[in-house]
Amino acid sequence: MTKGRNYPERTCVFCGKKFPKEQLIRFVRLEDKIIIDQEKKSSGRGAYLCKDCFPSWESSLKLKKLERALWKSKRRYS
Ligand SMILES: [Zn+2]
Repeated sequence: MTKGRNYPERTCVFCGKKFPKEQLIRFVRLEDKIIIDQEKKSSGRGAYLCKDCFPSWESSLKLKKLERALWKSKRRYS
């Protein structure tokens, strides 16, 4: 990894490894759905998957990880 520049790092919610933010795919909540934040400018909490984990992100195992990261304690039941 390149040193000397301070890349913001984020953790992949599935494998738990850290990557520079721009190498990760960002997911955000849209109401009660999880969507890919392609513009990378949605506000609010984001969750990240690395490129290795991104394929088949809609599998229930990965969705569950994303859900936990995105909802944490603030799950709404309304
Ligand atoms: Zn990963």
